[in-house]
Amino acid sequence: MAYATTNPYTGETVKTFDTATPEEINQAINSTDAAFREWSQTPIEDRAALLSRAAEILRANKRDYAETLTLEMGKLIAEAEAEVELSAAILDYYAKFGAQHLAPRYLRAEGFGDQDVALVNDPLGVLYAVEPWNFPYYQVIRISAPQTLAGNTILLKHASNVPQSALRMVELFRQAGFPDGVLTNIFASHEASEQILADPRVRGVALTGSEGAGGAIASIAGKNLKKSTLELGGADAFVVLEDAEVEKAAKWAAFGRHWNAGQVCVSSKRIIVVDAVYDRFLAEYKKHVAEFVAGDPMDPATTLAPLSSQTAADDVLKQVEAARAEGATVEAIGAEVPEQGAFVRPMLITNIPEGSETSQAEFFGPISQVYRAKDEDDAVRIANDTPFGLGGSVFSTDIERARKIARRIDTGMVFINQPTGVKADIPFGGVKRSGYGHELIDLGIKEFVNEKVVVVTDIDGSF
Ligand code: NAP
Repeated sequence: MAYATTNPYTGETVKTFDTATPEEINQAINSTDAAFREWSQTPIEDRAALLSRAAEILRANKRDYAETLTLEMGKLIAEAEAEVELSAAILDYYAKFGAQHLAPRYLRAEGFGDQDVALVNDPLGVLYAVEPWNFPYYQVIRISAPQTLAGNTILLKHASNVPQSALRMVELFRQAGFPDGVLTNIFASHEASEQILADPRVRGVALTGSEGAGGAIASIAGKNLKKSTLELGGADAFVVLEDAEVEKAAKWAAFGRHWNAGQVCVSSKRIIVVDAVYDRFLAEYKKHVAEFVAGDPMDPATTLAPLSSQTAADDVLKQVEAARAEGATVEAIGAEVPEQGAFVRPMLITNIPEGSETSQAEFFGPISQVYRAKDEDDAVRIANDTPFGLGGSVFSTDIERARKIARRIDTGMVFINQPTGVKADIPFGGVKRSGYGHELIDLGIKEFVNEKVVVVTDIDGSF
């Protein structure tokens, strides 16, 4: 795919970029590897100081950074500003806590003193990061902040529709004072992943994206015996029990399903409501969804953004038609949307046949699937009837009951009484077809370090 900025609101292509040649990719690996040699030897406090500086730059230029996001993938300007803030918070988190996450761990081993057997965390080298367009800064920072703090360097292949966001991340690192090559952008083709992952200097790959991309990258990584982490799609269950605050749940569900125009991996995509409160919930939910106002994402009055591209909008509409063909009930529940721009009018899908493709699919847009569950057990059954396992929610006023249900849902993250959250200090990761591995906190930083064993023995002693 060619790299280009196409404004999803106007449909205008404003800038295009050439795809990197194999020689250019080799040069990019050269410079990212050369940077690693120096960077990995830089004191961790100095690395942390640069992360803090990058956070300051982001915050000081929040609107300017946000506008690039809205231009390239159409998100609401307020959501773009929130993404800039979140990215700064992740940088700050690792500046503050990264060193302690990497501190050596001393093991109790028989016959050795307290500090004789250590697990130290050494950086690996160049990491390949393949990232999606839906959170163009957050996704880059989620991998770059921990891994550069750990001493690794990053070769970034961003989504082809957000090339300027990719360049802004590189510019941010440069302005903050990171040496050249610590974060290197390449406008790589899909095929280039073969070259990149076959290169012995590249030590691992982190991908966030679709199942297709995850499978492709993981198999190339496997063939080359490289570590991979995959953050893939999701179809989060949003379970509403009979003792929930129904109005609150409906409001959160409407937000959880429609922020970022519904293009969020951890969006409340399958809303599962027990029979006792189903009708009340649905009436409230429809009322909230009808209030969304689609329009110019730069206008603060707009509350529903266009999708990231016309192709994305067409794909979602095709999925809706497929749901109808499978026998599900489809109903428009949002207000009319403008003709100009990659908009999709919010729709509700109910009566979804069990075992249908619709029941197993991820809808990446403002489309709500709502299920009626007989009771709590039935809600858990429906929640688990998905190939995905990323996030999920349980709404109940009985927190202990909600906690127990959270443990029964086969997923990576469960939030009680709110949609799946995205925070700088809460880890992120899924199971099943949502991928493997974690990002954020100590779990994320440890994904790409060499947890090396260093043993001290007394030369006169015996093993
Ligand atoms: P996508 O097509 O998989 O794109 C993601 C990235 O992978 C892009 O940089 C893309 O490059 C690249 N890519 C795609 N196929 C590739 C291949 N065969 N070889 C090498 N690179 C490849 O994802 P999307 O559909 O745009 O994004 C939405 C998906 O990401 C959804 O499923 C969503 O749930 C998931 N997501 C997951 C998380 C999470 O943390 N779990 C977060 C956000 C999004 P091009 O742009 O050049 O094709």
